[in-house]
Amino acid sequence: MTDSVMMSDLSWDEYQRRLKEQDAIVLLPVGAVEQHGYHLPLGTDWMMATYMARRAAENVGGVVAAPISYGYRSQIRTGGGPHRCGTTNLDGSTLINLVKDVLKELARHGARKIAVIDGHFENRFYLDEACHLAVRELEYAGIQGAKILKMLYAERIKPETLETVYAGKPYPGLDLEHGGILETAMMLYCHPEHVDMSKIPDEELPKFPPYDLFPVDPDWVPPSGCLSSGKESTVEMGKLLVEEFVALVSASLNKEFR
Ligand SMILES: [Zn+2]
Repeated sequence: MTDSVMMSDLSWDEYQRRLKEQDAIVLLPVGAVEQHGYHLPLGTDWMMATYMARRAAENVGGVVAAPISYGYRSQIRTGGGPHRCGTTNLDGSTLINLVKDVLKELARHGARKIAVIDGHFENRFYLDEACHLAVRELEYAGIQGAKILKMLYAERIKPETLETVYAGKPYPGLDLEHGGILETAMMLYCHPEHVDMSKIPDEELPKFPPYDLFPVDPDWVPPSGCLSSGKESTVEMGKLLVEEFVALVSASLNKEFR
């Protein structure tokens, strides 16, 4: 019998056994397929969300549902915009319905402890809506007791961690961290075979106006698509960040479900 925590690796009856006998928490990673500069892969967000979900599941007795790879439209001031080749955007209503359907199916399987682990900044409010609607529809259908925890795995970062990672330089904020130090460092630690540090260019950081334009103006974003530079990233920084986030997600799940 496999000891994998990934739902896709399990037979249906083993999955059922984990739910019934082990009261498994079911984690649903949601990411995005989105450009992350020349040096990181298009799958960065869903790969990292899935990694975090797997590590947390191993800590708390969970099963990781097959991830939702695609996410809400990339925004120009937080993700480099919807326009680049490879960035594959869902409409908000599509993401809401997709996530809501999967959450209701997990509840039909018997899951009552469910966690949505978000790896893409722009998904936030669409995932909130999906969770609200799923809980309401389950209630209307007479399915009792389902509880959903939703979090961005990087919801909180300790100030001392940021100080170490940024080494005195100002932290640009999570919105401008697209393809920057944090994501690059985390990918170096979790998926080094998909990172090419030699491809990070020296380029000027974007200076966004305090508004958005539709359609977007592609010239707002540097040629690489990154909103800050990952040049200084190291695998040690990645380890520090990732282990902090794994602990944060695990502690949150334990607090609400164990
Ligand atoms: Zn990302």
